[in-house]
Amino acid sequence: MKTYKNYVNNGWVGAADTREIVNPATAQPMAVVPVASRQDVERAIAVARTTFDNTDWRDSSKAQMRGRILFKMAALVRKHLAALAELETMNCGKPIVEAEFDINDTATCFEYNGGLATKYHGETINVPDNALNFTLKEAVGVCGLIIPWNYPLLLTAWKLAPALAAGCTVVVKPATQTPLTLLEFCKLVQKEIPELPPGVLNVVTGDGAVVGAALAESPNVDKVSLTGGTDTGKAILRSIGNSHIKKITFELGGKSPNIFFADADLDAATDGALFGVFINQGEVCTAGSRVLVQQDIYKKFLDRMKEKTKRIKLGDPLKRDTKMGPLVTKEHQQKVLSYIELGRKEAKLVMGGGQPKGKGYFVEPTIFETDNTTRIAKEEIFGPVVACIPFKDEADAIKIANDTPYGLSAALWSRDIFKCLRVVKALRAGIVWVNTMQPCYVESPWGGYKQSGQGREMGTHGIEEFLETKQVHINLNEAGIGWY
Ligand code: NAD
Repeated sequence: MKTYKNYVNNGWVGAADTREIVNPATAQPMAVVPVASRQDVERAIAVARTTFDNTDWRDSSKAQMRGRILFKMAALVRKHLAALAELETMNCGKPIVEAEFDINDTATCFEYNGGLATKYHGETINVPDNALNFTLKEAVGVCGLIIPWNYPLLLTAWKLAPALAAGCTVVVKPATQTPLTLLEFCKLVQKEIPELPPGVLNVVTGDGAVVGAALAESPNVDKVSLTGGTDTGKAILRSIGNSHIKKITFELGGKSPNIFFADADLDAATDGALFGVFINQGEVCTAGSRVLVQQDIYKKFLDRMKEKTKRIKLGDPLKRDTKMGPLVTKEHQQKVLSYIELGRKEAKLVMGGGQPKGKGYFVEPTIFETDNTTRIAKEEIFGPVVACIPFKDEADAIKIANDTPYGLSAALWSRDIFKCLRVVKALRAGIVWVNTMQPCYVESPWGGYKQSGQGREMGTHGIEEFLETKQVHINLNEAGIGWY
C-alpha cells in the first residue's frame, strides 16, 4: 500500500498523524496519507507566505513564465491521463469513463489559465483632472484552496490554475477522503517542472475542522476559496469572523430544478432528466435532483424514466460499461440511505432505494414522486436520488423551481424559444441550461445565487477572484496643490 506525505516547499514532509484511504468499490484500504495538525498547516502557510512576499513569482514580468508552467502542468496531466483517471476512480468511485473526462478537463483548465496569465490587465480611466489614472491587477496573495471529494483533481484545477496564473501562492487542502490524485500530481510536478519556485504549490491533507479551519483563521492567508457544502461555507465564515478578514470564493451546495414542459422532446428530455441527476452517482453540486414535469405529460414521462433507469449499469467503476459506481464512503452511503428511508415515509417510492449485495458502498438509482414541501425535495442528498414533482403551467414551474434556499443551477426543456427565454430570466440560479443539463466549460463562469455561493470560477471571472485591483493616480500638474 502506498504511503504519502504532504507536499511543502517542493518537498515531502510527514505530519502529526496518518489515515488509511479506502477504495469505495471494494471497501479495502488503498493508501495511507497524512492527517495534518494545525502546526503542520501553519508551517505550509509560512512557506507560501515567504515565497509570495520575498520572491518575484507574483511580478507581472513573470506572467509568461507562470503561463508556461501551467502549460507544462496541462501536458503532464494529459501524458498521465490514464493512470490519474484510474486512481481517481479507485479513490472516489466514479465510473472510469467519467474520470477520464474529468482528467482531460483538468488539463484543459491548466491550458486555459496558462493562456490567461498574460492576458489580464488593468484599465486607463478618464478622470476630471490633469492626471493619469489607471489600475493594476495584482495577485491576492497566499490562498487556501479547499476542495471537495466529488471531482477531486478537476475542482483543484478550477482553483489552482487561475491562482497560479494570477501570481498567488497556495496551500491546497484536498477533501479528507480523496487526496490521492493531487498528491500524485505533485510528484509529477516535482520531477518534471523544476522551475516552479519552492513554496508556490503546497498540499496539506487532513480534516476540514483542523486543516481547513487553520487556513480560514490564519493571518498569513489572504484568501480562502472553498468548494463544499453550504454549512462548511458558514463554518468558514465564522472562522474568518473570529480571526482575520480575508477574501472568499465559495462554490456551495444545490437542489437544482430540471424543468420539463409538455412540448419538450420526450425521448431527449427523459434522457436529460436521468443524466442530469444520476451522472457521477448524483454526487454533483448541480445535480438536477428535482425533476419538475408538466402534469399533461407527467405519467408518460415517469414511465419512460423508469424504463430507462433499469438500463443504468451499477457496478465496478473500473469497467468501461459501468454507468454508476459506489458512493464515496460508507458514511456518505449511510446518509443517502437515511434520506431514502425518510422518502419512503414522506413521499412515494417509484423505483430503486435498495443497496446491491457486495462490499462496496453502492446505492441503486432511486426515483420518488413528491411535492416541493418534503425534505427529500428540499435538502441536498448528494446521491442517486431524484424527487419528481408535477406542475401545472409556466408560472407554477417557476414558483416551484425558485422555492429553495439554493441557486446554483437550473435546466428547462421546451421547443418554444419565447417560453424558454422567459423562464431563463425568471430563474434565480447562477447557471441555466436549456434543452440539456450539466455541460460545463472552462471558458464560462460557474457559481451560485443565494445559499449556493459567492463569486465565480472559470472563464475570465475565475482569475479575477485571485486578483486585487490597485488604483494608481499620477498628478500631471507640476504646480503644488495650492490649498494652504
Ligand atoms: P464538505 O463541505 O464536507 O467539504 C468540502 C471541503 O471543506 C473538504 O476539504 C473538507 O475537509 C473541508 N471542510 C470541512 N469542514 C471544514 C471547516 N469547518 N473549515 C474549513 N474546511 C472544512 O463537502 P463535500 O462533502 O466534500 O462535498 C460535497 C458538497 O460540495 C456538496 O454540498 C456539493 O454541492 C458541494 N459542491 C459544490 C460545487 C460547486 O461548484 N458549487 C462543486 C462540487 C461540490
